[in-house]
Amino acid sequence: MSDLHVIIAGGGLGGLALAQGLHRAGIGVTVYEKDPTPAFRNQGYRIRINADGITALRAVLAPEAFEVFAATAGVPGSRMDTFDHHLALRHAQDLPRVAGLPGGGHLAVNRNTLRQILLSGLDEVVHFGARVTGYTTDPAGTVTTHLTDGSSATGDILVGAAGVNSAVRQQHLPQAQVIDAGLRLLYGKIPFADNETRAAVPPELLSLWTTVVGPGRRFVGLAPVQYREPIDRVTARLAPSIALSADSDYLTCVFGARREQFPSTDEELFAMSGAELRALTVSLLQGWDPRLVDIVSCQDPASIFAVSVRTSVPLAAWDTSSVTLLGDAIHVMSPAIGIGANTALRDAQILTGRLTEAAAGRPLPEALRDYEEAMRGYGFDAVRESAVHGRQLVGQDLLPVASA
Ligand SMILES: Cc1cc2nc3c(=O)[nH]c(=O)nc-3n(C[C@H](O)[C@H](O)[C@H](O)COP(=O)(O)OP(=O)(O)OC[C@H]3O[C@@H](n4cnc5c(N)ncnc54)[C@H](O)[C@@H]3O)c2cc1C
Repeated sequence: MSDLHVIIAGGGLGGLALAQGLHRAGIGVTVYEKDPTPAFRNQGYRIRINADGITALRAVLAPEAFEVFAATAGVPGSRMDTFDHHLALRHAQDLPRVAGLPGGGHLAVNRNTLRQILLSGLDEVVHFGARVTGYTTDPAGTVTTHLTDGSSATGDILVGAAGVNSAVRQQHLPQAQVIDAGLRLLYGKIPFADNETRAAVPPELLSLWTTVVGPGRRFVGLAPVQYREPIDRVTARLAPSIALSADSDYLTCVFGARREQFPSTDEELFAMSGAELRALTVSLLQGWDPRLVDIVSCQDPASIFAVSVRTSVPLAAWDTSSVTLLGDAIHVMSPAIGIGANTALRDAQILTGRLTEAAAGRPLPEALRDYEEAMRGYGFDAVRESAVHGRQLVGQDLLPVASA
């Protein structure tokens, strides 16, 4: 074990991937996660993992954990087609496949399953019920992280990985902006337990991701998670020490629109029950192909919740210090192309690499500067690309012109 000790604020996909990488590299690491337990909060549903995400997971996870990840992922192919509200194909897109990666670089995973895999083997590392409020830097060059219960912990580096509202980002980079992208999503899932529901979905809507766009650029996004083998059989076969919750096939269903398209205020929207959100969705799909309305009506009401889409504004370079950032904490983006988590995983892989070099003697400031330069490049490119695509497809607000 090296002398370096890294503190990570936030145990989401990015923070845990970094913890996995550092732990495996023999670098001391502690994660503080505000949720009291891993199952405390609905983590969301299907998440697309692309070639960057798969490559990063292969780098940070133990080989058997990576095998479990690959075997519990759905392989939905590489099509991301766009239909109009009469289900006429408007734009066909077949993404390139990457040789040597599972699913050709296109996987659809259940977010909670991935998070459980990322937590495996980290019992001593991750502290739940620990909310980070800020930090102080110490004259010796170390950094002390403060928690809501009044306790603190000192390490050589603090990584802010607590997502869009990161307290570490707000303290470290008060000039960083996170803005409303103008879109609201009603995010739910359609269980496929009953095969009748699956059979009612036209096969062309069961690809990697399907967008159906209607009047006013209201849209429905559909994406399946279909397991190739029951989860308990995968873990029994590949890694009995990894405990995963059971899950069964489903279709993620997202209704989205610009906020003015909703008849309710944000306050009302965010107070609605799942059943009310489903009824609202159906009411906003009048005149759409009845097959689509029927599909949306099959959403499990208990699964539906509202999301306000936010985006960071790309930022000019800052001075490197013993505090750095990763994932949505620094480059939150609209989910228009589904690459936010993949970018967070890429951060985790690169930061693991640079900190491993520092543990072996490379000057720490130089290693962190390398990470931040690379991360600002691809991370803010992903923010811009997501904003452009979200604008073209569904009318997302433009990023402010002054952005770097
Ligand atoms: C509807 C939707 C669909 C999406 N689909 C995709 C997709 O298909 N593919 C993709 O790549 N991306 C997708 N994304 C984006 C993706 O969800 C995020 O980019 C990703 O979760 C970022 O990971 P993270 O670890 O940086 O942050 P988070 O996942 O937000 O994790 C942050 C963690 O920090 C914890 N935390 C917060 N505050 C504190 C605190 N003060 N102290 C301690 N802990 C704290 C939180 O509880 C959480 O566990 C989607 C986003 C949305 C909204």
